[in-house]
Amino acid sequence: MSKALFLDRDGTLIIDKDYLADPAGVEVLPGIAAALGRARTLGYKFFLFTNQSGIGRGYYTLADAERVNAHMENLLALPRPLFAGVCIAPEAPEQPSLYRKPSPRFIVETIAHHGLDPAQCWMVGDRETDIQAGLNAGIRAAAVCTGKHDAAGWAALAPAGVSVFPSFVEFVTALS
Ligand SMILES: [Mg+2]
Repeated sequence: MSKALFLDRDGTLIIDKDYLADPAGVEVLPGIAAALGRARTLGYKFFLFTNQSGIGRGYYTLADAERVNAHMENLLALPRPLFAGVCIAPEAPEQPSLYRKPSPRFIVETIAHHGLDPAQCWMVGDRETDIQAGLNAGIRAAAVCTGKHDAAGWAALAPAGVSVFPSFVEFVTALS
């Protein structure tokens, strides 16, 4: 069975700029490309899992979000396809939602569809909803300090058993 990383985008792989709709605004966080390369060498598949409430709020379109993702992949310059699957959850928080984190639906469906081993899957993100989505899906969750919360913030928030890393780079360094 395969192992996989479910990866938040904003604040985890790229700098979180609220409601990013312009590909020109994409700034990959330091060391991310090398870290993804290492994780791939270790045999992890990647799934991008991003809440984009700006779509539901009417600020930008799904196509805009896809263009941002595509530019991020260009900047990362790793062999394609980089992601074995992508979920862009478009709902605003007050709208009925299927996939918006903390819903575990994308993770649960992906584990079944790709024959992943839940014990070897992680959800990595910078917000509580990322962590909750992973835990709700029955996989491990890791928090990073490159977005919404710093280490002190996570110390007050992270559920027991959830590891906190300065960034995705340190998370991958700890992977085996
Ligand atoms: Mg985020």
